[in-house]
Amino acid sequence: MKKRLVAPDLWQFALQRPDVLNVYLAGDVLIDAGMPSTSRQLIGALKAHQVGAHALTHAHFDHQGGSHAVCESFGVPMWCGAGDREAAETGDWTRLLPRPDGWMARLAHRLAGPGHPVARVLADGDRVGDFTVIETPGHTPGHLAFWRERDRILILGDVLFHRNPATRRSGLREPFGFATRDPSVNRESARKLAALEPLVVCFGHGEPLTDVARFQEFVSSLES
Ligand SMILES: [Zn+2]
Repeated sequence: MKKRLVAPDLWQFALQRPDVLNVYLAGDVLIDAGMPSTSRQLIGALKAHQVGAHALTHAHFDHQGGSHAVCESFGVPMWCGAGDREAAETGDWTRLLPRPDGWMARLAHRLAGPGHPVARVLADGDRVGDFTVIETPGHTPGHLAFWRERDRILILGDVLFHRNPATRRSGLREPFGFATRDPSVNRESARKLAALEPLVVCFGHGEPLTDVARFQEFVSSLES
């Protein structure tokens, strides 16, 4: 597994190369945990580090699927946003989909990982290591981003993709519509994040982006 020190006290682990699926270790807080099928290699890679807690950007299977295994292995609590709590605790992420009876939901049951109890619900302004929680609903109701003011680093989960996880093609894009509960609310969240003027943007899917002009341009091109 590729790991990269993005900034002081911030590691990126690419569970699927090249940067197709990422998790981050912010201080001693693991942000996202990948899929059920990548949890063993993630646990192995984390053994060289200190893990004190686990937080989720959202409870889709490719972010929460490894959560139970990681929390059990390191004996750490799991935290997430209120709107994703039920999905995180049951592993049933179909309830987060725009169409809970659609084709994606049928596939979702097969992809899902086990649930895990949520020890703490995170909300706007909460501190996670040296990052601040920002509620960014839209992709899922309880989606969260994490912001470090001191060096203007943003971890934005799936508010935007920087690499298409299906085609593996690099480039900024909105997350898949079939897995996004409310695209227009998600665009509002993207605008809220762009207004912070981040210098480094870290994605669930894709390599970290430092071309801040391109990020700003993309977000301002999104329709309301
Ligand atoms: Zn994702």
